Formats: sequence, structure tokens, C-alpha cells
Amino acid sequence: MSWTAAIGLEVHVQLRTASKMFCGCPTSFGAPPNTQVCPVCLGLPGAMPVMNLEAIRLTVMTGLLLGCRIATRSRFDRKNYFYPDMPKNYQISQYDQPLCLGGALDIGPAGARRSIRLRRIHLEEDVAKSLHYGNSSGIDFNRAGTPLMEIVTEPDLRTPEEAHEFLTELQRVLEYGRISECNLEEGNIRCDVNVSVRRGEDGALGTKTELKNLNTFRGVHRALAAEIRRQIAVLESGGRIVQETRRWNDAAGVTEPMRTKEEEHDYRYFPEPDLMPIELSAEQIEVWRAELPELPAARRVRFVAQYSLPEYDAGVLTADRGVADFFEATVRICGRPKSVSNWVMTEVLRFLSERGATIGHLPLTPAALAELITAVEEGRVSALAGKEVLADLLERGGSPEDVIRAKGLAQVSDDAAIAEWAAQAIAQHPGPAAEYRAGKAAALQFLIGQVMKLSRGRANPKLAAAELRKRLDAG
Ligand code: ADP
Ligand code: ZN
Ligand code: MG
Repeated sequence: MSWTAAIGLEVHVQLRTASKMFCGCPTSFGAPPNTQVCPVCLGLPGAMPVMNLEAIRLTVMTGLLLGCRIATRSRFDRKNYFYPDMPKNYQISQYDQPLCLGGALDIGPAGARRSIRLRRIHLEEDVAKSLHYGNSSGIDFNRAGTPLMEIVTEPDLRTPEEAHEFLTELQRVLEYGRISECNLEEGNIRCDVNVSVRRGEDGALGTKTELKNLNTFRGVHRALAAEIRRQIAVLESGGRIVQETRRWNDAAGVTEPMRTKEEEHDYRYFPEPDLMPIELSAEQIEVWRAELPELPAARRVRFVAQYSLPEYDAGVLTADRGVADFFEATVRICGRPKSVSNWVMTEVLRFLSERGATIGHLPLTPAALAELITAVEEGRVSALAGKEVLADLLERGGSPEDVIRAKGLAQVSDDAAIAEWAAQAIAQHPGPAAEYRAGKAAALQFLIGQVMKLSRGRANPKLAAAELRKRLDAG
């Protein structure tokens, strides 16, 4: 019987709130160390926490998006431990009464979707960040107290690929719900991984290890592949897996022992005495449910039905909520969904990926793109010149008509000008001209291309073709 892995994830997500979980300090990233702090998030004795209701709302929204049961009564607890990143020696977290229970997230291709069950989602405070320099260390408390949501899965994932896909899909849901900035470089999503192996697919799970120091989704994938290989090798040589926490060494590509796993009772959880339990009415939960955005999978299906788009287009356009919104806003103005899809999927997305930019920060507006597409469709500007105009709009914004006028890109249907370019194209390329005359019709396409080039994309291609044919056929 071959080996199967069981993987469970504990995903930490920093919520998109302006202020911290229990104080008014800002959560923005990148300020000089220890400039966004107060007695509460520094953990000074006697400072009293005040609950951030927006963090509660975002956690409940996540639970609703993922099909969880929302607890009408939940509570914060103190998780006690000693470590320099937490000077009050406990982290405010949730233990046995989390905000959300159950739920699932589906992964896998259409027709072979698999439901990955969630165990719980709870809310806690992020801890400070340790900085290491040569032979000394420092601590930055700017991050301390940032609202941190922890999503815990059941051990339903089976391969490193599935774990990677789960994280990518989860990230998409969190972006759609505007739950988190989801910026991986800034540590908005961090993940601990639990993994075990067993013979076959059924029966008791094997002993697991927990992997830490995974900074990217690719790191998760690589660490899992290495750890699964290690566990199988240990078991096949007659050894036993020790339940422990292991650190991923990315440079060496191996996991290394870090510490034996602490037990839950080591943390001596007890209810946080300085905060009231969280009571949510059924009405409040329904109000939030009504605010849920349409999720990517549902939107993809709707795009195919409503706009008659190919599955492929719908998948690309809905992968990012901003892009999908931009597409729909443009179509509302100019119709022509397939044209809009083509322009967005090629020119706009290429520009975004080249710049590493997001669509929300572009100077291009849906109204400008709609106007440009209409101009191209109506033949006032050629498709080629349209791309030049769009490049300008992506860079600087403004109105397509202005750019067309300023660059002299309006399509030219003037017979004399087209005759001139056609004559030039034939004179400069006698080879293709001769081929066309000898019966090779395809050579005409080349010459049309030359006219477009000579006219900098302005020539009306239909008129150019007619003019070339007339001249070539005449001898
Ligand atoms: P711990 O007691 O170590 O905190 P939990 O039972 O609370 O373990 O589960 C923590 C995470 O580990 C969850 O994501 C869960 O799915 C996963 N997990 C639990 N048991 C296993 C196992 N045998 N193999 C793989 N993952 C597991
Ligand atoms: Zn503070
Ligand atoms: Mg546990």
C-alpha cells in the first residue's frame, strides 16, 4: 500500500482594520520601529483593552463566506506563555468559544472539486516582531496588537499541491471579501502547517509534525514535499515519527527539529477578565450576511451566463475582484462584453503584471476604456492605433479622444493618403508584391501590414487592402 499524507493548516490573517485589536494605534505597515504603540499594545501593567468591533465584523464575514456556524456568544481568553514578543506574558486569543465553527472551502478542477473542512476561525492579537542584528536583537511593537484571525482546517489536504491551491483560493476569498490586504511580503497571511503520513487512505492518522518559518505559499509547498519525504523515509526504515515542531530551512531545503510540541494545557488558558463576552444577535448576523460580496466561483458562472463569455475569459476576469469590477463597469457603459474582455485580458492585465500594479491604482477609468473600445469598433481609430492610445491612458489617464487627436491617430480613410502608402509599400517590397501577382494571396497580408506600419496604424485596413489589390492587379 502506498503512503498518503494528511495536511492541516493554521492560517493567520491580519485583518484590514485601521486600528489595532484592543487600542487605537494604527495598523499601517512600514513605519519606523516602535512608533505605533501605546500602553495597551506594549503590554504595560494596568492598561485596559477595548474591543475593535470592525475586527469582529470582518471575522464573522469570513465565517459567512466560508459557510461556518457563527457563534452568538463567544469569548476571549488569555493564552499564557513567556517570550520577548509578548511582554505581558499572555496573548489575548480565543480558546473554547471561537467566533466561527465548521465551514469548508472547495478546491480542485470543475468536476473533481474537493471540500476541505474547516475546524474553526478565531480572533486574537498579533505579537511584536523580533529583529536580529549581528549579535543583538530588537523588538518592534508596531505589529503587536494587530487583529489576527486564525483559520484552522481539518487534516483533509493530501498533497503539497492541494495545500498550495487551498491557500491561493483562501487568499482570493479574503481579497473578495475585503477582509485583509493579503499582502504576503508584509506578512498579512502567515501559515503553520501540520502533516503526517499513513499507509493507504483510511484508518487512523499518523503522528504529525508542525512546520514553522514558512514565508511564502511556495515555501509551504516545498517544506511539505520535503517533510513528507522525510517522514516516509523514517517509517520505511523502521523508525517512529516524533510529535514535534520543525523549522523549514529554505536555503538547505530541509526541515529541522525546533522543539517538542507544547501541549494545550501548557498555555493555561483562562477567560480574559478585562473583556466582556461577545454577544451577536441573529439579526446582526443577518445584516452582515446581506452585505456579503459575490464570491469568485459564483461570479465566474454568472459571467459566462450573463455576458456569453468563454469559461477561460470568465476565469481570468474574476480571479481579481478589482479586475472583475472594472470589466463590469466598462460593459455597463459600452456593452460589447467580448471586446471589453479582450482588451482587459491582454493590454490591461499585461500592463498590470509588468508594473506589479493593481487595477484600483490605474489612471485608466472604465469610462475611458469604454470610449476607446467604441472608437475602435466604429472604425474611428484602428485596433493597432487603439493599443497605442491605451498605452497612453494606462500611463497617464485622460480621455481617448484627446490622445487620438494629440497623437494624430484618427483612422485615415482619405483615398490619396492610402494610395500613397500603398505605392510605397509595393515599391519597398517587390518580393511579396511579385508573390501576390504570382497567385500567393497570403502575400497581401504582409503588404497590408506594411501600409499599417507606414501610416503608424492610422490607415483604414479595408481601404488599404482594396487599394493594394487594385494596384497589384493592374500590373
Ligand atoms: P495540536 O494539538 O497540535 O494543536 P490540533 O488537533 O489542535 O493539534 O490540530 C492543529 C492542526 O493540525 C489542525 O489544522 C489539524 O487539522 C492538524 N492535524 C491534527 N492532527 C493531524 C494529523 N494527524 N496529521 C496532520 N494534521 C493534523
Ligand atoms: Zn496601541
Ligand atoms: Mg490545537
